Amino acid sequence: MSLIEPHGGKLIDREARGAERESLLYASAAMPELTLNAREEADLELIAHGALSPLEGFMGEAEYVLVRDQMRLADGLVWTIPVTLSATEEERSKLKIGDDVALRSGDGRLLALLHLAEIFKYDKQLEAERVYLTTDEKHPGVKALYEQGDYLLGGQVSVVEHSRRHEFAPYRYSPRELRALFAEKGWRSVVGRDHAGVGNYYGTYDAQLIFGHFEPGELKIAPMFFDNTFFCRKCDGMASLKTCPHEESHHVSLSGTRVREMLSRGEIPPVEFTRPEVAQVLIEGLSRLSAAA
Ligand SMILES: [Zn+2]
Repeated sequence: MSLIEPHGGKLIDREARGAERESLLYASAAMPELTLNAREEADLELIAHGALSPLEGFMGEAEYVLVRDQMRLADGLVWTIPVTLSATEEERSKLKIGDDVALRSGDGRLLALLHLAEIFKYDKQLEAERVYLTTDEKHPGVKALYEQGDYLLGGQVSVVEHSRRHEFAPYRYSPRELRALFAEKGWRSVVGRDHAGVGNYYGTYDAQLIFGHFEPGELKIAPMFFDNTFFCRKCDGMASLKTCPHEESHHVSLSGTRVREMLSRGEIPPVEFTRPEVAQVLIEGLSRLSAAA
C-alpha cells in the first residue's frame, strides 16, 4: 500500500535553487521590498516545502473569498483558513501589479520573491466571523488579523532562504522528508491529533464536527473521533463517559488552557493530572519566563 497523495494531488516545491536562485538574488537588489510578520514568515516556509500544497503562494481575492465563505479552493478542494500576505496603505502605495517584490524577515534577511498578481482590500471583521467564528479581539487569530495591514497581496512565491528560527530542529521534517521516513519505516497508518484549543472559543468536539461540512472521503484521511477523557477517582484511572458510570463529582478534568493558568499562578494541578515534582519544574520554568518578559 502506498501513501495517500498530497492534498490536491501534487506536492508543491517553491524553493529556488542553483542558477535560478542566484539570478533571483541578483535581481532582488533592485526590487521593491516588503517585511513579513511572524505568521506570514511561517506560512512562507510551509508554502516552500509543500506543507500547504496545492498553494504556490499567497491567495488572490477570488480564492480568498471562496475559502472564507465556503471552505473551498477554486477547484473545490477543501481549505478552511485563508493564507494571506498583508500590506499597509503605505507599503501598498510602493507596489504595483506585475512587480517582483523582495520579501524580508523582521530582521532584514531576504526570504523570498513574490510575483505580485493582485492587490485587494478585504473585510477583517467578516473574515474573523467566518473563519474564527468570533470577532473578539482577545482571540489570538482575530487580534493578529485586526493588527495587520488593510490590503492583501496575492501571487506565487519563489523562496530563496528558509526561516532560521529552528527550535527543536531534530523534530522538524518537511512533507517530503516525512514521506520518505514513513516509507522507510513501512508505516501504513499515521495518526496527526486535534489541534490545541484557543481559550473557550470552541466546543470540545468542534474539531470533530467540522468534518460534517465535507463529504466522506473528500480529505482522503479517515477521521478518528474519540470521546473527551478524564481521570475518575472511583475508576482509579483514565475514563470517558462511555466507560465510566460514576458521578461527575468523582471526575478530574482540566483543559490545557486551565493547566497553564494554574501553573502560571504557581498552583499545583491535582495529583491525578500531573506529578507534583513535574508541576514544580514547570512552575519554576514559567516564572523564569515571565521574569524575563
Ligand atoms: Zn468512574
